[in-house]
Amino acid sequence: MTTFKTTLAALAIGIMSMVSTADAADKGTVGISMPTKSSARWIADGDNMVKVLKEKGYGTDLQYAEDDIPNQLAQVEGMISKDVKILVIAAIDGTTLTSALQKAADKGIKVIAYDRLIRGSKNVSYYATFDNFQVGVEQAQTLETGLGLKEGKGPFNIELFAGSPDDNNAGFFFNGAMSVLNPYIKSGKLVVKSGQTAFDKVATLRWDGATAQARMDAILSGYYGKDKVNAVLSPYDGISMGILSSLKAVGYGTKDQPLPFVSGQDSEVPSVKSIIKGEQYSTIFKDTRELAKVTVNMIDAVLSGKEPEVNDTKTYDNGVKVVPSYLLKPVIVDKSNWQHVLVDSGYYKLNQLQ
Ligand code: BGC
Repeated sequence: MTTFKTTLAALAIGIMSMVSTADAADKGTVGISMPTKSSARWIADGDNMVKVLKEKGYGTDLQYAEDDIPNQLAQVEGMISKDVKILVIAAIDGTTLTSALQKAADKGIKVIAYDRLIRGSKNVSYYATFDNFQVGVEQAQTLETGLGLKEGKGPFNIELFAGSPDDNNAGFFFNGAMSVLNPYIKSGKLVVKSGQTAFDKVATLRWDGATAQARMDAILSGYYGKDKVNAVLSPYDGISMGILSSLKAVGYGTKDQPLPFVSGQDSEVPSVKSIIKGEQYSTIFKDTRELAKVTVNMIDAVLSGKEPEVNDTKTYDNGVKVVPSYLLKPVIVDKSNWQHVLVDSGYYKLNQLQ
């Protein structure tokens, strides 16, 4: 009897698992290639994509390449050889996937660039992202507000950091920020004592916090003897953390020597905690739940032969074609609104930030 029951139970489980695999595979598998797990935002991106895709009846193959370009290429090629229905790729280096994407096209597998534009390939159908220029504008606007530049205050010393030069977004962020800062630099209200203002001088390969920290160390020891730095343009929270460590190591962060205004991006937990403590000044919130929704809508449309909704058909020229894009709105986060933007929206739980 027990054996009979056990057999029945095993059979039932077997059938149930067959049903759920069949369900998941119903609409086919979506290959999702993400750059790295070293930053929380990409983990959230991957998790949200899987969640929304599963709800819609897709299977998923989510892989992270740990910021290693050959690794990402191998992962994408693996997905193509497994005949995924469609590829969603957040590229480490936007220019290195051309031959893989040709293989995808040869098999009829369409590609959606996720958050970061894939450059140099005609085989990119759509691009889902945030308004990257606007991200930079907002980062710089927070520094403008913190310093009181609009009220005519100054002159102040500022130093500039940009993201990874092989990530197409980094240039957009920097150009957006400089559209706000340049007039003040020209008028002398902002002074870059290091003289390092060109993108290639201020870029930070792989968005690496330790690289940024080392550059900030060199700037502080090379150009700031008696003078103090009042603001630092930082493009990403991991870089902001490195910059803040460097500043604290030489005595910033006291009443007599306050920390400069430091921007950021992604609203990562350590940075939000730092904002609450009054150290990092601002960050940008990019709701990865929304990006997942937009991307999955694109997937649904593409796979059913429809035109996905886009709201920008001019900005993102990848060197071969202008990729039709959907741009979401980034949101400024600082001490005054973090709870409203990040907790009330359900993105974080309050106790994660305490
Ligand atoms: C993303 C940013 C992120 C950065 C570093 C960029 O491509 O758009 O949100 O801060 O990569 O991961």
